[in-house]
Amino acid sequence: MSSEKIFVSEFNKEAGKKLKMPARVTVFDSTLRDGEQLAGVSFKTEEKLEIAMALDKLGVDIIEAGFPVNSQPEFDAVEKIANEKLKAKVCGLARVLTPDIDACLNAGVDIVHVFVSTSDIHLKYQMGKTREEVLKMAVDAVKYVKKNGRECIFSPMDATRTPLEYLLKVCKEVEKAGADRINVPDTVGVMNPSATRMLFGKVREAVKVPIQTHAHNDFGLAVANTLAGVEAGATDVQVTVNGLGERAGNASLEQVVMSLHALYGVRTNIKTELLSETSRLLERYSEVYLPPNYPLVGKAAFAHESGIHAHAVLKAGQTFEPIAPELVGQKRRIVVGKHSGKASIENALKALGYEKIEQTLLIEATKKIKELAEVKKQIYDEDIIAISEDVIGQAAKTKPLVTLEEVTVVTGNKITPAASIVLKYGDEILKGAGQGVGPVDAAANAIQTILGSTVRIKLTEYNLRAITGGTDALADVTIKVMDEQKNVFAANAVNDDIVMASVQALLRAINDAINYQKRTKEKRK
Ligand code: MN
Repeated sequence: MSSEKIFVSEFNKEAGKKLKMPARVTVFDSTLRDGEQLAGVSFKTEEKLEIAMALDKLGVDIIEAGFPVNSQPEFDAVEKIANEKLKAKVCGLARVLTPDIDACLNAGVDIVHVFVSTSDIHLKYQMGKTREEVLKMAVDAVKYVKKNGRECIFSPMDATRTPLEYLLKVCKEVEKAGADRINVPDTVGVMNPSATRMLFGKVREAVKVPIQTHAHNDFGLAVANTLAGVEAGATDVQVTVNGLGERAGNASLEQVVMSLHALYGVRTNIKTELLSETSRLLERYSEVYLPPNYPLVGKAAFAHESGIHAHAVLKAGQTFEPIAPELVGQKRRIVVGKHSGKASIENALKALGYEKIEQTLLIEATKKIKELAEVKKQIYDEDIIAISEDVIGQAAKTKPLVTLEEVTVVTGNKITPAASIVLKYGDEILKGAGQGVGPVDAAANAIQTILGSTVRIKLTEYNLRAITGGTDALADVTIKVMDEQKNVFAANAVNDDIVMASVQALLRAINDAINYQKRTKEKRK
């Protein structure tokens, strides 16, 4: 990775001299297994296949595709992925039980990942077995996998709450039985980085096979603990895209990989410039959306609003960026808000199609935009256009493309709400109808039907506020929509009719989305 794109602290290098870091780390991705175990997440078979291909393209070494014994659909998905002839090795999960392992073998995976609880808490409440019984089951399971000619990863579940002596005994015995890799999971996310370093040091001394980390983020330490594990001898990391996983999730693939690359100088096989698109794919299929401030791949991870920062990064990115955004497939964004300075406003105006702007007018526009930002949380392009037209007297090159001609809705307690809508798109008149759970939903569906593939948007937020009291109150609707590239457009409209206000707000957001797409296309040319 080229160093002119990494602007991290020199202290990392200094501290690194004392560490025995591996030259390369193996990335084991569990997005399709632990990731899917996050409450509310469920991938369809086709989605799993697409995710597996994306992970393969990204360059992960091992894909944990699922838990085949769990259900027929899960078996089918694992089998399909195993048949894809991916570069990555495909792994299936199994308890230390013959039917589980058989399901993995029949699904055709390269690696069987067998696990059994070893902590006293789990032995007592979950398994109802003695330590000796569990040890024998573990050894037998590993032998069974090896007898069938597959690679075997062994996990002592809840390892971090297992007495050290017994844990090391299990690790040594499964190694003797033929385990190719041993994973030391922090199943409940209860370790701190120092403890993790200590524990991995002990396991490293006890066995020779590669050891893996599997950290959970219950205290927000999954990434730190994963890196601590590597510092102490782990050569494999179990991670998930976007940190998806049980409860608070697993260690995030993007954060672990980029930390290894940028902060430790340790290589992985990951094509880091694909991290953002992989993250977005998983957002879409998991429907778990990242907060803007999510590290590296979050929408605001390379966004600058404050005047001082924005001015500086426009001259030289490394002033306020740790790495070049393109290294993770991101783009720098200069956001206009109350902290903006002249340089950001000029940048925004240029992006909107304004050319030469006189300095005194620019200063005036900046002042007005900042005043508006004091009262409005977010400044949208239309605000900038409105103010600039006022101040500069120059028309923006963006005009609404889609306008409303007619809207009719029918609703009631005995019928499915339906809407028919007539739009003007350029010079064309377009008609369409839609149904929905309510009149607003029906209208939104009708609009989407009309626009079809021109712009695909998803309503992500809908806020309705009554401005005055009573049944004749004005409806103030604020909505947010997201396009396929995950750009968010917000719009607001006020009307004495809820449906009308909603439709107007929706059309404003759609116009923004279309104009934005046009602008970015023009820029690319
Ligand atoms: Mn887990």
